[in-house]
Formats: sequence, C-alpha cells, structure tokens
Amino acid sequence: MEKIVSLCKRRGFVFPGSEIYGGLSGIYDYGPLGVELRHNIKQYFWTKFIAEREDVYGMSAAILMPEKVWQASGHTELFTDPLVECKICHARFRADQPEVIAEHEISHKKETIGWSEPKVFNLLVETKLGASEETAMKVYLRGEITQGVHVNFKNVLDSMHPKFPFGIGQIGKAFRNEITPRDFLFRQREFEQMELQYYIKPDEAEGKKQFESWKEFSLDWYYGLGFKKSSLRLRQHAPDERAHYAKDAWDIEYNIPEIGWKEAWGIHHRGDWDLKRHSEYSGADLSYYDEETRERFIPWDIECSGGVDRAVLFVLLEAYTEDTMNEEPRSYLKLATHLAPIRVAVFPLLKNKPELVKKAREVYSEIKRQIPSAVFDDNGNIGKRYRRQDEIGTPHCITIDFETLENETVTLRDRNTGKQERVDIKNLSSILL
Ligand code: ATP
Repeated sequence: MEKIVSLCKRRGFVFPGSEIYGGLSGIYDYGPLGVELRHNIKQYFWTKFIAEREDVYGMSAAILMPEKVWQASGHTELFTDPLVECKICHARFRADQPEVIAEHEISHKKETIGWSEPKVFNLLVETKLGASEETAMKVYLRGEITQGVHVNFKNVLDSMHPKFPFGIGQIGKAFRNEITPRDFLFRQREFEQMELQYYIKPDEAEGKKQFESWKEFSLDWYYGLGFKKSSLRLRQHAPDERAHYAKDAWDIEYNIPEIGWKEAWGIHHRGDWDLKRHSEYSGADLSYYDEETRERFIPWDIECSGGVDRAVLFVLLEAYTEDTMNEEPRSYLKLATHLAPIRVAVFPLLKNKPELVKKAREVYSEIKRQIPSAVFDDNGNIGKRYRRQDEIGTPHCITIDFETLENETVTLRDRNTGKQERVDIKNLSSILL
C-alpha cells in the first residue's frame, strides 16, 4: 500500500487534498494520470452497464438534496456508525473496527486507556442553502448516489416509457462523514460511486433470478478491470451486517496484499423499501401499472453499487509489479490496455538528431489522431524513458531510429516483457487499436 501511495503522488495519480494548506483527512485530489485512469474505469462501467444495454438508461442527479429525501430513505435515522472516544486524548474512532482501536491503544504506550460508551454517529454531511440565517434550508450532500435515481423513477417512467424489468445507471460523488477515514482511497469522506438500480416486478422467483444474474454480471465486469481469479471473491452479508434496506446483500471483495479481503462492490436486494418510502414521504405515486397483466405494483430494486476510487486503488494494487530487467530492478503497472492513462508513448532514439525528431513527430501526430492519450517524449536516454512509461503502466512504446528513415519501420516495445519487434508504420494503428 505505501508503495502505491508514494507512486501516486510522485507520478501524478493522486495527491492529498488541499495539501499546501495541510490537507483534509479523507479527502484526495486526482492528478493528470489518476484522472485518466479513473475516467477509463468509469467509461468502462458506462459502456457495459448502460450504453450496451437496451434495458438500462443513464442519468445524473444533483448532489444536494433536501432533508426529507434522507428521512424517507432512512439515512437520517439509520445511516450511523458507533463512535467511541479515547478518554486520554479525546480522539474518536469507530467502535466496530478493532484494528483501529488496537492501533490507537498502542500509541499511548504505557498509559492505560479508557474508552467512552459507544455513541451513535450519523454519517450524512449537511450544509445550508439560502441567503439569510432565518430562511436558510438544511440540505445534505448525498450519502449515496442511489436516492437521486429513486426520486427520479417517475420522471424516467413518464419520459422514456420503459417496459419491465429496466434499470437506471449513474456515476457521481457521494459524501460520508467517516469517523476514521483510512487506507488511502479506500475510506474517504468524499468519493465517487457507480451504480445501477434495476427495477423488477415484485416476485420472489424473479427477484432471485435477477439478483443472481446481476451478481454474475458485476463479478465479470470487475474481472474485466484486469484482476486475477484468485484476487476477487463474492461474500454474502450475514443478516446483522445488512444495511437497513437490504433483503439480501453480497459483496465483491478484493484481497489487498498484506491486508486481506475488503469490499469493492455491493449487490443489494433493496426490495420496495426506497420507492415505498419515497411514495409515503413525497406523496407522489411511484407505483407502476402493467398494461399487459393489468396489475399495479411498487417495483423491487436490485442494486449494483461500486466505489470508483476503490476500483482505482484496487486496480493499482493489482497492477503493481516488481521484477528484474536487464539486470536492474524495475517496477511497473500491469494495467489493462483499456485502463492505462497513456496508451502509447512515441520517442525519437536520439534527441539531438533533427531528422529522427522530425520523423518521430510525424509518427506521433498520426497516432495521436487515433489514440488521444498518446504522448511524445525525448527526455533523457531511451532506457530511462522506457522505465518512466513502465512505472505508469503505458502498454507500448514506439521508437523511431535510423532504420525508420530507410524503411518506414519502428520498434514497438511491450511493457510486460520489454521485448521489441520491428513493425511497419502503416500497421501500427491496427496493432494498437
Ligand atoms: P463499508 O462497509 O466499507 O463502509 P458500505 O457497505 O457502507 O462500505 P455501500 O454503502 O454499500 O458501502 O457503498 C457502495 C460502495 O461505495 C462500496 O462498495 C464502496 O466501493 C464505496 N464506498 C463506500 N464508502 C466509501 C468510502 N468511505 N470511501 C470510498 N468508497 C466508498
């Protein structure tokens, strides 16, 4: 984990939030390479869960929502963690995280620690909207993106006229006042989620079938980010572990090296909890009338919910590899090509030979037209340039040398093996795309 944190900072993936002002705990900023990796992960979600499917619509709801939404969803009452306070230094921690408690106890060395009784702590982040103190309205930064979809259920029904079953997918920021943000991007206070709410007829057999199929779909999707079979597993929540809305819940977990299994993604059977509660609290009719069967019902919801930042972190942890190349130690990111922030780098063999630089610029311009994330680099010697690209996971490097000037071929180097082959310039795009 430390190696990833330092790589992220050094190479422009992720920085501590507002760092020059001392930072904010649990808040991170994405740098030039991190934002590309994150974008590629989100794009892959959007393609597979939304764009490629005829039964799913996309949407994007606002972050700020009135208090009543969160009363209806149960979050003002139930979205809580147990909090305990250290009687020596008054630091606060989650009572249900024994490893955090133990770590803190050790930090007090010889003193004997006393802890306060656990208190219920609500995770919603609140703010106010309005120009004057008297009229300002309490609003919440959404604690999960889910509710933005449920409150628009009727709008999507009325505008798109979908047939059942159908889904609504969305990607966006969520905010939680986590008591103990930790493990870098794993537990943040501001993070991004990618979710699908899939609405079905209220029927036990249909619920089971859809739940199984979305579990499988989610796991396949996660493997598509480049994980080894042994790095992921599915785990069912015990009844006392489930969120207040869940009839059944499973997690996809990732085996973090030296830390262990941690939640990456959840599949939740939310039943009719959300739509029923929003009907009650808003007064809007959120039922559906099926013309064919002449039935009116409140749909059930099967939810797939993943953290974007956790996916970024887990993809980086999985991709990080150390080996020896040309008798020197190296580290590289074995990123899947569709996720790599830079897909290909183009170099002139020597910086001080204008004819090589000119040709390299020509090849680069042509590639850049087709692969926008391509970069040009002529800094330092060629070995150093390869290492720099390896470290950030660039799958291919192209070098223009003297032979290029004679026969329109270049060397194409593979990141994982370091092997180089000579390729005709005219064949490059078919190999790289
Ligand atoms: P945890 O048990 O780890 O707190 P959760 O069960 O509360 O997570 P959900 O409410 O199911 O999480 O949220 C769905 C997904 O959002 C999670 O699988 C995770 O990937 C992501 N997520 C939740 N909380 C955070 C956080 N504080 N920082 C980053 N990602 C998060």
